[in-house]
Amino acid sequence: MSADLRPGLAGLPPESLAAWFAERGHASFRARQLNAGLWASGATAASSIGTLPAALRSEIDAAFSLDTVADTELRLADDGRTEKALHRLADGALIESVVMHYPARRTADGQQRERNTVCISSQAGCAVGCPFCATGELGFSRDLSTAEIVDQVRSAARRLAHRDRRLTNVVFMGMGEPLLNLDRVLEAIAALADPDRFGLGARHITVSTSGVVPGIRRLTALGPQFTLAVSLHAARDSLRDVLVPLNRRWPVAEVVGAARDHARVTGRRVSYEVTLIDGVNDTDADADALAGLLRGDLCHVNLIPMNPVAHTPWTASPIERIERIAARLRRDGIAVTIRRNRGQEVGAACGQLAAERAGEPAAPAVARRRELLVVRSAAALRGERMTEPAEAGLVAALAHDEDRLPVRPIPVASAPTAG
Ligand code: SF4
Repeated sequence: MSADLRPGLAGLPPESLAAWFAERGHASFRARQLNAGLWASGATAASSIGTLPAALRSEIDAAFSLDTVADTELRLADDGRTEKALHRLADGALIESVVMHYPARRTADGQQRERNTVCISSQAGCAVGCPFCATGELGFSRDLSTAEIVDQVRSAARRLAHRDRRLTNVVFMGMGEPLLNLDRVLEAIAALADPDRFGLGARHITVSTSGVVPGIRRLTALGPQFTLAVSLHAARDSLRDVLVPLNRRWPVAEVVGAARDHARVTGRRVSYEVTLIDGVNDTDADADALAGLLRGDLCHVNLIPMNPVAHTPWTASPIERIERIAARLRRDGIAVTIRRNRGQEVGAACGQLAAERAGEPAAPAVARRRELLVVRSAAALRGERMTEPAEAGLVAALAHDEDRLPVRPIPVASAPTAG
């Protein structure tokens, strides 16, 4: 079967679509009809948009794909509240998205409405290579196109609509480092937030990064839009060098400094994600370092027990230790939420299904990897920084991307800070 080379329609800016119609002599209202079918009705082929003439439907289907993630396999968990999707793209690349349903609940300050969040991928694989992450183990394959990013959201919204549910939030926390594919991520957000296209509203979108400082500064220059989340995982450089290899390029102080500027300039609270690994980053010293780092910042910390991932020697921290860290942070006035793992039985941590499909790595390679992680984390716990250079794939990804990430000046406004 040959690969589908048609560009994805959901990634096309409105002016390009209008130009496509004008070049072919079609009336501009036809573009609006197509848009209504694509965005409001979630059409996956122009052939199903009855308002368009048959000849035009065929022309559109020949030129564009209306669903670049059509080949999707689903797995349900948590009594149907977590749905993991494995999408096979036109070139055979595998990516994942996860829909999480949070029922409405009564809160101290009133009723909270139900939320349906989709966690989406921005790249096939990832060059960052965090050792507690199945995607990191897969390595980097390629950047996703704008349409491939947006179509994960459209696919989730369609599936939710079949259950009379509405998609309420999008988080870029699936496979890949979003700020290393930032142009396309920003185009995707523009389509998702545009009232004439997906119409979600930027405030319901969260973009996560493992610490690409120029990318954070570029987001800051764009002003207050979506929520920024930083995958911190450790407050000490020695440990973060191991857990997030990007730390060897942008260490903790630079990452948190950029995030702090972001909160100050945009007035939006930054979210920090900390995956807790038993005996590795959950000690009292780690809790003290985290509290010292974030005290007084406009931020929120999410503590997440590590998802079980094959080929690491690590497991999740026990809940008592997570609660102890949460209490330590709260003592310093830092807002904390303890998150629970969703969909463990379907491999809901990012990259687990794709890793399964990639097949088992050879046993000696797995043994070497586990041994290396034990040695590196032991050295990190002794406070030793890593001296090895970053892996070649990560160096190449950064070199490529630093050319594309101009750091614009940050307007310093008198935006609120946490008190
Ligand atoms: S945790 Fe995120 S940044 Fe790290 S390897 Fe996995 S996908 Fe990449």
